[in-house]
Amino acid sequence: FQREQASKHIAVLAFPFGTHAAPLLNLVLRLSQACPDTVFSFLSTKQSNSSTFPVKLDKVKPFNVWDGLPEGYRFGGNPHEPVGYFLKAVPGNFTKVLDKAVAETGKRIDCLITDAFYAFGADVADELNVPWVALWTAGPRALFVHIDTDSIRRHVGINGSQDKPLDFLPDFSGLRVADLPDGITSGDLDAPIPALLHKMGQALPRATAIAANSYEDLDNTVVNILKQRFKLYLNVGPFNLVSTSTVDDSHGCLDWLSKNETASVVYISLGSVITPPPHELQALCEALEESEFPFFWSFRGNPEKDLPQGFLERRRSKGKIVPWAPQQKILEHPSVGVFISHGGWNSVLESIVGGVPMIFRPYFGDQGLNTRTVEGVWGFGLGLEGGTLTKEGAMKALKLTLCSEQGKKMRDRIGVQKLLAYNAVKPNGSSVENFKTLVNVVCNK
Ligand code: UDP
Repeated sequence: FQREQASKHIAVLAFPFGTHAAPLLNLVLRLSQACPDTVFSFLSTKQSNSSTFPVKLDKVKPFNVWDGLPEGYRFGGNPHEPVGYFLKAVPGNFTKVLDKAVAETGKRIDCLITDAFYAFGADVADELNVPWVALWTAGPRALFVHIDTDSIRRHVGINGSQDKPLDFLPDFSGLRVADLPDGITSGDLDAPIPALLHKMGQALPRATAIAANSYEDLDNTVVNILKQRFKLYLNVGPFNLVSTSTVDDSHGCLDWLSKNETASVVYISLGSVITPPPHELQALCEALEESEFPFFWSFRGNPEKDLPQGFLERRRSKGKIVPWAPQQKILEHPSVGVFISHGGWNSVLESIVGGVPMIFRPYFGDQGLNTRTVEGVWGFGLGLEGGTLTKEGAMKALKLTLCSEQGKKMRDRIGVQKLLAYNAVKPNGSSVENFKTLVNVVCNK
């Protein structure tokens, strides 16, 4: 397939941090299958492109944009720092490479797809006189609080009581100000990410369409409001059910799980970036030792160095720790009984598809909102007492989810969601139909 022979050229601008570029590429690959004669130029940083693009693809070509880092920059451990530099370089770093992609392909751009984070997508698309499609990679509720930030601020004030209920928002009873992402009503409202999200909330109503990694039956009340606020809001997920990904099980995770009883194993993963502070690691290890549940841990860091002395030897027969796991497959394995998670949106969806109740230790962003929504509104998981990992809190949560009637009810509730998620991606399911609508917008069919 020759790029020059294509009749349409679509530009894609990715956010190169966290779990953002991979779901965007995922969506683009599905679109590229549905839109023959169309080529895509996928713009992200070199580092992001090299980890996201598995192989050379016919119709989707990666283009590297400048990461904004000063000459000689060395990562000092704060994950927000490179994000701050990158955000100073946008949109100039993108528009420069857009020109290159047009020159190389010999085709003007027909549609702009961006991560929803990029409010500037509205202006770039206007200048190009093309539709702007934004992908929101997190949950509908997190999107809603960002588009309603000004109104939430008016209701609860800035840096006021963290305990104020959010019951003036639809289906938010039980949630409090403390559950909102940092920077909506408290913290540093002008920090790079809160400022970006605030601008995003104001710009997204200009988008031709917003696609989201969710499905219609999850958070239905909020989804209906989003449909009123946007020109076109389309749930086209869960992505983990509609995309094919290769499973790397080089650590023998699935074999190990098969040696355990049904719904007995604790799966632990705090996402792609977080390593808990030492005292929380100590507390979790003590809870695992004392409760004696088998566990499987995808650990960011060096377990020999970061975990308490002797823990690995003592737990060898009961637990397995790996640097990276095929998470989705693990959550679908019948041996897994509970998922200790940071509450990232992809993890929540993958747990739903696996039918596994969750225990949450949220750290930042939408994680607290996801935690309280799953716990208080959907009822298939729980936050830890006091919000952080303590030995007693972790043991209590593990016993409750794995060994009690309440835990069984959580499993039943998430089982219902699992069925709804599968229904959404069946032929004629809501996500499949929404995807067809998206194809019409993107490829102008
Ligand atoms: N993940 C994985 N293996 C691991 C840890 C994480 O495949 O060992 C994947 C996980 O399946 C999910 C993503 O990384 O798709 C994490 O996304 P999430 O939104 O939960 O959290 P984030 O990393 O963005 O904070």
